[in-house]
Amino acid sequence: MKRIGVLTSGGDAPGMNAAVRAVVRKAIYHNVEVYGIFGGYAGLMSGNIQKLELGSVGDIIHRGGTILYSARCEEFKTKEGQQQGIEQLRKHGIEGLVVIGGDGSYRGAKALTEQGFPCVGVPGTIDNDIPGTEFTIGFDTALNTVIDAIDKIRDTATSHERTFIIEVMGRDAGDIALWAGLAGGAETILIPEEKYNMEEIAQRLKKGHERGKRHSIIMVAEGVCSGVEFGKELEEATNFDTRVSVLGHIQRGGSPTAFDRVLASRLGARAVELLINDQGGRAVGVEKNHLVDYDIIEALAKKHTIDLHLYKLSKELSI
Ligand code: ADP
Repeated sequence: MKRIGVLTSGGDAPGMNAAVRAVVRKAIYHNVEVYGIFGGYAGLMSGNIQKLELGSVGDIIHRGGTILYSARCEEFKTKEGQQQGIEQLRKHGIEGLVVIGGDGSYRGAKALTEQGFPCVGVPGTIDNDIPGTEFTIGFDTALNTVIDAIDKIRDTATSHERTFIIEVMGRDAGDIALWAGLAGGAETILIPEEKYNMEEIAQRLKKGHERGKRHSIIMVAEGVCSGVEFGKELEEATNFDTRVSVLGHIQRGGSPTAFDRVLASRLGARAVELLINDQGGRAVGVEKNHLVDYDIIEALAKKHTIDLHLYKLSKELSI
């Protein structure tokens, strides 16, 4: 393989730039040319493609977002859209493609691979919800953003004796709520994977209040319900003074943590190795701190599972 492409797609995540840098540098190290596809699959279809040099990815390892931009593109879900993409890749002499993104982006990569164009998926999303890897690029940074917010909210919650509900991202996966809740010392964590019991939550809060606790933090993953909705329900059940903070898109931004930069560098480089060794149609990941790769179809067929031991621990530690 003499020429590969790289694109970022779907929701952006901090560390995507570090992954792009790793792809470009690793490929050039092995005398393989790299072309950047700008604007995800939409840019692929329209041919928004430029050669990347060593210097093109200088000074980006610490930046959030993605220099290749991202997009959502409905048309690419059709066979015609995918064929148009493959034509563009062939026109530029590109023989393999690294796709950095979430599971939707993986489906695009799978579709291209099935039509004879080898792709490798690199997990980039703050949600940590991609099967075939314990951690996705961007998750750790998002967690640290949320923890920073929890710490600040805790200060004001203590001063005013309030119960704070913090709504975080996570439509299908509660990883951000769970990990940030555990790291931030939240009393209660609501995740889409587990049903909640309002009576039990109210009892727990009242017990804490009785033993002199001046504040409570409750994490709500957006996939469970809106923080505002939950706040109303909780006020009715407890009569406690409740406030809601919806963290929203700040969770996607910011300079990637060291963990995300290292993870992105390792995964981006591994994706290039696979393409160079003619192993398209794979998805890379990390398990027990070792790099792994799976057939992309197999990876998509797996289910992301949340760490229920952590969930149990969070309950035990917040009695
Ligand atoms: P993420 O990659 O973060 O999960 P999306 O689910 O929005 O984000 O997917 C990103 C893009 O991947 C979509 O806009 C679309 O272009 C492409 N995509 C998603 N699902 C498919 C599919 N089944 N087949 C082909 N392309 C897809």
